[in-house]
Parts: sequence; C-alpha cells; structure tokens
Amino acid sequence: MAEINRAVKGTNDILPPLSYSWRNIENTLFDTARLYGFSEIRIPVFEHTEVFRRSVGDTTDVVQKEMYTFDDKGGRSLTLRPELTAGVIRSCIEHGLVNGALPVKVCYEGGCYRYEKPQAGRLREFHQFGVECLGAAAPSADAEVILLANNLLSAIGVRDISLEINSIGCPECRKKYHSALKEYFKQHTDTLCGTCNERLDRNPMRILDCKSPVCSEIAADAPVVLDYLCDDCAEHFEGVKAHLNAAGIKYTVNPHIVRGLDYYTRTVFEFVSGGIGAQSTICGGGRYDGLISQMGGPQTAALGFAMGLERLMLVLNSQQTELPKEPECDIYLVTMGDAAKIKATELSAALRSDGFKVQTDICGRGIKAQMKYADKIGAKFTAVIGDNELETNTVNLKNMLNGEVAEASLDRIVDFLK
Ligand code: ATP
Ligand code: MG
Repeated sequence: MAEINRAVKGTNDILPPLSYSWRNIENTLFDTARLYGFSEIRIPVFEHTEVFRRSVGDTTDVVQKEMYTFDDKGGRSLTLRPELTAGVIRSCIEHGLVNGALPVKVCYEGGCYRYEKPQAGRLREFHQFGVECLGAAAPSADAEVILLANNLLSAIGVRDISLEINSIGCPECRKKYHSALKEYFKQHTDTLCGTCNERLDRNPMRILDCKSPVCSEIAADAPVVLDYLCDDCAEHFEGVKAHLNAAGIKYTVNPHIVRGLDYYTRTVFEFVSGGIGAQSTICGGGRYDGLISQMGGPQTAALGFAMGLERLMLVLNSQQTELPKEPECDIYLVTMGDAAKIKATELSAALRSDGFKVQTDICGRGIKAQMKYADKIGAKFTAVIGDNELETNTVNLKNMLNGEVAEASLDRIVDFLK
C-alpha cells in the first residue's frame, strides 16, 4: 500500500514552481535550435526492442544492463527508449525523410528510461534535449552541431563548461585500432573486470568507457585512437578543428573519449561541467555515418548530440543561477454572495481574454480567507465585489504591494489594469 504514495525509485516529479523553469528552459532550447534550422520531431516513448539493439549496440551497457524491456499483450518485445537517436532515425527512414531534401535537421525533448543505480545526476527516468542532422558529411556540419550545443548551454546560462572532442575514426581505422587495443588489454586480463573481459573480443573500445576504477586506470595507458586514423578521417578531424578555431570556441582534444554507444564514427564530443560531482557530462554527441544504413536506410552521413536536462538543472543550481519565476496573478476577484460570484465569472472571462491572469474564489470561502489566499499567491491587485459594488457598478482595486486603493467602474477593470 505504501507504494501508491511514492514515485518509483529513480524517477522525479517536477512540481511548480520548478516546472515553470523547466518549461522556460525547454522553450529557450527549441528557439535556439530553430536559429540553426532544426525543427521539432516527436516520437513514441517505446519502440521495438530491436531498434535499440541494432543501433545503440549489443555490447553497450545500455543494451546489456539498462533497458526497460517487456513483452506486450500481443507478444511483441518492446523497450522504453533509453535515448532518442535510435527512434528518430527509425522514424526518418520510415517516413522517407532521408530520401528527401538533405540535410534533415530535427530536434527533440523527452523522457528516457534506463535501469541504472540512482544517484546525483543519474536517474531511471531522465530527460534529454537533442538534435540530429542527417545527410551532412562535411566537417562544417560537425562544427555547426558542436556550436549549436555550445550556444544552447550559454543561452540557458551555463557557465564554466568545457568542450572535449575526439575522433574515433571509421570502420577502416577501427580494425587496426581494435587489434592494438586487444593486444594491450590482453596483458591485463587478470585485473580487468568480468564485463571488460567479455568485451575484449567483441568490442575492446567499450573497455575505455568502463566506469570501474581498476579498468579506467588500465585504460589510461591504452593506445589512443588518434594514432590509428586513416588519412580521410584525420583530414576530416583537422577540418572540424579548423572550423571550431574559426568560430573562436575553446576545446581540448581528449583521445580517451569514445562515448557509450556503438554507433559513433569520426567526431565525438562531450561538454563537461566541473561543479556537479561524478556525473559531470552534460551533453554528449558525435557523428554516426554508418547508423542509417545499418538500420535499413540509404547510406547517409549523420550526426547529433543529446544533453541531460536534470544534469543541466544541477549545473544551474550549483552556479546559483536565478531561474525565471512564474508570473503572478494580476488580479484576484474577492466575492461576497451569489450574484457577485456570477459577476466575477463574467469579469474573469473578459479579463482573461485580454491576457490578464485572473483568479477568483472557487472554494466557497469567506472574504477574509479569500484575501489571505490572494496574498499567498502574490496577486498584484484585489477587488472586492459584493451587493453594493453590483448596485453602484464600481469597485475598489487594491494594489497589494503598496496598499493603495483606486476606484474603477466594474466593467472597466481592464482599462485600469492596462
Ligand atoms: P554516463 O557516462 O553519465 O552514463 P552516457 O554516456 O550513458 O552518460 P548518453 O547516452 O550519451 O550518456 O546520454 C546523453 C546525456 O544524457 C548524458 O550526457 C547525460 O547528461 C544524460 N544522461 C545519461 N544517462 C542519464 C541518467 N541515467 N540520468 C540522468 N541523465 C543521464
Ligand atoms: Mg550511461
């Protein structure tokens, strides 16, 4: 029984007034993305499990340990989305967007579900804002997407965030790199964790992303992928850096970033914050030139990123950023008697259609309790309406900030407020 009064572990309710800050931030994110030509896409919260197996990858933590997978009553294996890229790509293939005018630029916001150990910055339901840009192969695309991520973070007031970039090459460079990694890690099989030992054969790059301190220490001295890039990938990476330099954005090349999902190729990047503890990556992304064809679409270069909104809120909190507050009620109509209540309903409708935030008593309270409530919600003005006011068609409007009272005609409250 206790459970019906408690949210599931690792999930959060977002209540007023914080929900207003969320809405505001989301609006800023979408407005900023629009400046770069990105339009919103909305996709289902669940997909066929195979969508994630194919894209995110069988050897990733997400697919191996973190997915909420279940059979529906029709016997289909479905999974709550652990991220949105896979579903977005599925949708863009299904609806032929990848066969139309390229690049396709879409952005999204939504809940993601991962069975992880809940802690600061790590939840089981969390929210991502992200973008995907399909059909853009040039280094300028990588730069544009990175600059957009940076612009989003600055638009919502994030300070002290660092950008780290890397290139993890293409399947061609990966072959040589994988054998170098295998050779290196084979000397450490007795100290690597069980999972990493399993990864050694199928996907040694995953070991670089292992969160166990022992594995991280071993990984620190592993061969770096930048030394194994083919000429094309090296040239692409130089191009990306040249564009970033031209835009004047600061970054460091961190050869240890490989990203947690299998589908990345070439450029990968992360925005990392210093102030929020271990879960410090706010935004991660990169290029995934092989994903669309791997999912049954035409060969299409593509890239994107996703940022975790809860972690973003932690950063704003740690910076003590003042978040926008929900605008208060413009006027509270205090009523005495049934006729006044009818009038208040009529007046409220008229005032609201003029864009004023109006409240009136809907609990059947006395005048004192109504005044108290008006004060509590921070109403800017109150107007007491009773039989007398109805008769004279006038009302006293009280400015709740300074206590000043002004008389207005009942039907001209709008003009007064304006
Ligand atoms: P981490 O290394 O922290 O597990 P990840 O590599 O699994 O992150 P991505 O799959 O790249 O993360 O997701 C993009 C962003 O989504 C992350 O940078 C982070 O901000 C956010 N994120 C990922 N998992 C969680 C989670 N369990 N709770 C809250 N936010 C998360
Ligand atoms: Mg993770």
